[in-house]
Amino acid sequence: MRAVLDHIGIAVGDIDAALAFYRDALGLEIAAPEDVPSQRVRAHLIPTGECALELLEATAPDSPIARYLQKRGPGIHHITLRVDDIRAALEHLRARGVRLIDEQPRPGAEAALVAFIHPSAAHGVLVELKQAAPRPVSLTAQRLPFGNLTLVSAHDGLFALDGGAMFGVVPRTLWAAQSPPDDRNRIRLATRPLLVEADWGRLLIDCGIGDKMDAKQRDIYAVDRSHTLDEALASAGLAADNVDFVLATHLHFDHFGGATLRRDGRLEPRFARARYIIRAGEWQEATHPHERNRASYIADDFLPLEAAGVVEFFEDDRTIRPGVRVVRTGGHCPQHQVVFVESAGKTAVFTADLIPTTAHIRDAWIMGYDLFPMETLAFKKRFIREAIEREYLIFFEHDPLVAAGYIREKAGRRFVEPVL
Ligand SMILES: [Zn+2]
Ligand SMILES: [Zn+2]
Repeated sequence: MRAVLDHIGIAVGDIDAALAFYRDALGLEIAAPEDVPSQRVRAHLIPTGECALELLEATAPDSPIARYLQKRGPGIHHITLRVDDIRAALEHLRARGVRLIDEQPRPGAEAALVAFIHPSAAHGVLVELKQAAPRPVSLTAQRLPFGNLTLVSAHDGLFALDGGAMFGVVPRTLWAAQSPPDDRNRIRLATRPLLVEADWGRLLIDCGIGDKMDAKQRDIYAVDRSHTLDEALASAGLAADNVDFVLATHLHFDHFGGATLRRDGRLEPRFARARYIIRAGEWQEATHPHERNRASYIADDFLPLEAAGVVEFFEDDRTIRPGVRVVRTGGHCPQHQVVFVESAGKTAVFTADLIPTTAHIRDAWIMGYDLFPMETLAFKKRFIREAIEREYLIFFEHDPLVAAGYIREKAGRRFVEPVL
């Protein structure tokens, strides 16, 4: 049985006093609390590297935590070991005569399965076994009515990039708790184009990573094509031919690889009927790469579009089509832009590589890939403040789990309330 220390549970009587110590005095970040009704407990998880702390607050007088506090006062309540297969682990322990509290696993926080071993068997320590929930990844398209528009959040499969490069100066111990790396230090990322349906047509923002990579590139980026944009569109009753416009946030391969495809040995626009709307400055960057950005631009993604005469260039920030407007952020690359989608007083923003995943909502969590990180910081600080105050619905193009949500801030703590 392979077990990894997952977290240490601490019973607290006065949660405000406990937060004053762990959050304010120690300066730790505390995740949004989660109620575990079966235990009448509210859990406040504190990521601290690869193992977390968990403050446990009783929500009813008959909660096991309330009884523990009465008997022993606040303090370390349990340790939790994570196992791959909790049923097999319980069987293994039973066979060795270990006294268990739970003969069968039961639901714990974060949709995990848990079971407790009796403290008498563990030399006075209450030990919880935990099998983490399989991470649910929605790979089909999700439709969301949005004022007079419809937003369709699509998916072009998964890939992976070096975790250090994704989080810049943030130490591994911090980001690994948010985005667990694989054995090659890569973290899993999604590619999620967004389709806007309006009375003027269908506009696709970015178009995924596509199918043109060779085996070596697919291995480097752990490209998982078990689900594709075509399948996601089909699940929403659509096909590539239904797309009228493709708008690029920028031309990096993980955003625009899906713009072209190879058919009978020739490169063609993937969206046969679409006009491709591209910022002229970004085209200039992509066609004149330098040592620092060369790996990000692949000419086969965009040059065939020009040859086919389907590109519409524009210069400055503007409304692309009614309700869809672009704003240049710079930072990630000089011409990187985000897309505002506005209808009936509501605003959604496709943030592309400004806030690639929900872990990047912290101001200083900026990708090492960014050419001008101080520009990213300046734009991001202002933008996130505005997004919180005006309740923008944020689309996270690379988040493996959350396609869209609201950024909230409570008691100085920032988090994402998922919507899709
Ligand atoms: Zn990029
Ligand atoms: Zn990207």
